[in-house]
Amino acid sequence: TSSSIPTTQNAVIIETTGGPEVLQFRTDQPVPSPKEGEILVKNHIAGLNFIDTYFRTGLYPSPKPEILGREAAGTIVALGSGVTNPYGFKVGDRVMWMHNSGYAQYTAVPAKTAIKIPDGVKDEDLVASFLSGLTVLTLVKETYAVQKGDVVLVHAAAGGAGILMVQILKSLGAVVIGTAGGAEKVALVKSLGADHVIDYRSEEGKDWVKIVKEITNGRGVDVVYDSVGKDTWEGSLEAVKRKGFVAWFGNASGPVPPLPIQRLSPKCIKIARPMLNGYLVEREEYEYWAGQLLELLQSGKLKVKINKIFPLAEVQQAHKDLEGRKTTGKTLLKP
Ligand code: NDP
Repeated sequence: TSSSIPTTQNAVIIETTGGPEVLQFRTDQPVPSPKEGEILVKNHIAGLNFIDTYFRTGLYPSPKPEILGREAAGTIVALGSGVTNPYGFKVGDRVMWMHNSGYAQYTAVPAKTAIKIPDGVKDEDLVASFLSGLTVLTLVKETYAVQKGDVVLVHAAAGGAGILMVQILKSLGAVVIGTAGGAEKVALVKSLGADHVIDYRSEEGKDWVKIVKEITNGRGVDVVYDSVGKDTWEGSLEAVKRKGFVAWFGNASGPVPPLPIQRLSPKCIKIARPMLNGYLVEREEYEYWAGQLLELLQSGKLKVKINKIFPLAEVQQAHKDLEGRKTTGKTLLKP
């Protein structure tokens, strides 16, 4: 504990669900005290993720009032009392954490949700690739283990998770077909090494299923990674090959509706609908995947793209841009 920790802070709270207007920037929020097993982090930079909009709209229920935000990088300023400290954290350590209440200057999080940031790794680069990158790594290694030569369809390939997925798939030797909305996004995804990119908002690209079939000589792709949900789920089932795999992992356009399981029968399709936290329950799992990600970053194999860093006070605009499909790569918030 330190006398330099203030009692109040800037944070963004929501009291009710709704549009971006329910996000309230406040300068009078209490700084939390870390409980047993927790650390208090002074956040340098926080990540904006599409999931934040699901908690804001109520698509994913959560208690209100709530401070949104699932990840941030910062410095430990206090350790909870009576803490057994199995991870060896000290005040002053630079850490990356993934938990709740990141839209704030200070957050108390369970120590097991944080990892030390190695020297030489920038806060911005890690937040731009952490939650998104861990999602991608678990999707391409655990949900469906992508093999060299697999043909993979990635929707929203210019997004925060998408740009990382394209790079990681290429490093695994996959043939990547990306979808993205608009010429600028298409060019970005191509520059990351994608083999084919379809502008699924253009007149021609609207029939992206047909284009995917043409690219694959009528066979279909080995696996689809679909985070768009409502608008693409049926096309994804059509674009996958016989005995192929469809992984749905997001609701950017709305959730995938309840699916009659018989829809899978004609082509013997396998499906999954994973969530990142389900792969990171044990500390060993968390450290393993975080280690894999850090290695990709430190070796320069994975490049981040930061869309924009918004001051916390401009969080409403940040949400509008993300939901308005105006962003490429990852958007960050500066508390
Ligand atoms: P993105 O930066 O990818 O933003 C979402 C993108 O989805 C948009 O840029 C847009 O790209 C596309 N999109 C398609 N339809 C719509 C629509 N109707 N409204 C808004 N956007 C649309 O976000 P994130 O990188 O934060 O997340 C990507 C996806 O991955 C999300 O669906 C998220 O929920 C999911 N996710 C799931 C996790 C899990 O554990 N299951 C963990 C992390 C992320 P375009 O204009 O090119 O269509």
